[in-house]
Amino acid sequence: MSQQQRTQGAAALELRDLWVRYPDGTQPVRGVDLALAPGEIVALVGASGSGKSTVLRGIAGLEQVHRGAVLLGGHDVTAVPVHRRGVGMVFQDGQLFPHRSVARNIAYGLEAARLPRNERQARVARMLELVDLVEHADRPVQRLSGGQAQRVALARSLAPAPRVLLLDEPLSALDADLRGRLARQVRSILQDTGTTAVHVTHDAAEAQTLADRTVRLAEGRLAESSPR
Ligand code: ADP
Ligand code: MG
Repeated sequence: MSQQQRTQGAAALELRDLWVRYPDGTQPVRGVDLALAPGEIVALVGASGSGKSTVLRGIAGLEQVHRGAVLLGGHDVTAVPVHRRGVGMVFQDGQLFPHRSVARNIAYGLEAARLPRNERQARVARMLELVDLVEHADRPVQRLSGGQAQRVALARSLAPAPRVLLLDEPLSALDADLRGRLARQVRSILQDTGTTAVHVTHDAAEAQTLADRTVRLAEGRLAESSPR
């Protein structure tokens, strides 16, 4: 994607001089600037402890931004609480609800949003197809493989159609073979749904496979950018 295309219209997600500090004074994010076009997938890489998760937590509103701004679709959401940002998150361990089936995990965000039952069922059915788990709809999530569980986590966070999806090393716990295959699947699912996403990984090959562009975090700032 060219710079010109990126600057036309409002960015789906924009970080302007973002600084995030923890209550104990740790300040891992020190002036991050980043803009994602609608539907763009960016990989965020960097050493362990470089602040990748903290950037995502700042975007989601889970940590306080003490300087700079987070904009979604051109609107400043820096002061908007987590649950009203429309930002979805997927974590390394999936964090599925253990006592819910696959389908009821996927339905969770739709129940919380009080979507009517028929719409909810239709949306869950579409998500099950998208992540190729139709046959496993009623299975308890404890009986899924690691790859299946992460696909449920992805479907659950995509079901409410978030404005931006944040993926925090969602494939890191899987073995290399599966990681490669799932990286391709995740890319095609994000493309099919037109989802704008920031994908954190420490695996350069995974970043290449999954994202349109890779940015590197070092010393609290973005150091370089390389296209796909
Ligand atoms: P990464 O995801 O790149 O591994 P993190 O964003 O988790 O890095 O952490 C960046 C830095 O912030 C690290 O030095 C870490 O120890 C520190 N940190 C993370 N969470 C907290 C917290 N809740 N309170 C204080 N410091 C934290
Ligand atoms: Mg992390």
